[in-house]
Amino acid sequence: MFSLKGRVAVVTGGSSGLGVQMAKGFAGQGADLVIMARRLDKLEKVAEEIRSLGVKCLPVQCDVTNTDQVNKAAEAAIKEYGKVDILVNCAGSAKNAGVLNMTDEEWDFTVDTDMTSVFKVTRAFAKYMVEKKYGRIINIASMYGLVGNTAIDTVAYHSSKGGVVNFTRAVAAELAKYNITCNAICPGYFATELTIDTLKTEAFTNYMKATVPMGRYGKEGELNPAAIFLASDEASYVTGAILTVDGGYTAV
Ligand code: NDP
Repeated sequence: MFSLKGRVAVVTGGSSGLGVQMAKGFAGQGADLVIMARRLDKLEKVAEEIRSLGVKCLPVQCDVTNTDQVNKAAEAAIKEYGKVDILVNCAGSAKNAGVLNMTDEEWDFTVDTDMTSVFKVTRAFAKYMVEKKYGRIINIASMYGLVGNTAIDTVAYHSSKGGVVNFTRAVAAELAKYNITCNAICPGYFATELTIDTLKTEAFTNYMKATVPMGRYGKEGELNPAAIFLASDEASYVTGAILTVDGGYTAV
């Protein structure tokens, strides 16, 4: 079960963090890859590592907030492989502030990067899945898309990730007739470029220990089984699901 041999998987945010981990996880299951992000030097390095696992990997420089670049990235993927089976919307970033202090610029940046980009990338790639009557779309939301939090004010991030959660359900309903599934993963705290400065502080570590039943951060690779499952042929009747991988944070 869960072989991805012969499948083509696109991962946005493929230059660092969870995107790299999932891309390598898919490669380990035999999938060929397209990895997208803005930093081409990093993408090329990751692509080399993925190729060493015995699969193909196409790095595509792309700002996922830019419609034209996103559409061109989809065309490049189709030119290379002729199809796209799996799409993981993982690219993300955030400007953190609370509702009382957040500027329009901070709000727009976060919503554009974390939510509108998911729409743009899905629109660009899903049309090719429709042609083949096969697709697995996986949106990386966040446990912060399901709840608020008391550790750090980040209202636009919560709002965007909540939007991604319900975007997932809407797309699942709309595209089911084309044999395309759409699911979301809501990660908890994983140490990456995005989070390390916050997570490593003593104050946040204490907060985590008090709020995460498992009492620890997620480890490298611990998101991969969820992504591989949702990307697999075997998950053919799973759509519109919101899967938390958060050490139990949202269970309490
Ligand atoms: P990283 O900062 O390590 O990775 C973010 C990735 O997104 C990078 O590859 C970055 O590439 C890419 N990216 C950011 N903005 C853009 C853009 N405008 N266009 C294209 N690519 C972009 O963070 P994580 O791996 O932690 O985050 C990955 C996803 O997981 C995000 O959506 C995040 O919200 C989510 N998440 C993370 C959690 C965590 O604890 N780490 C918890 C819950 C959710 P580049 O800069 O090269 O463009």
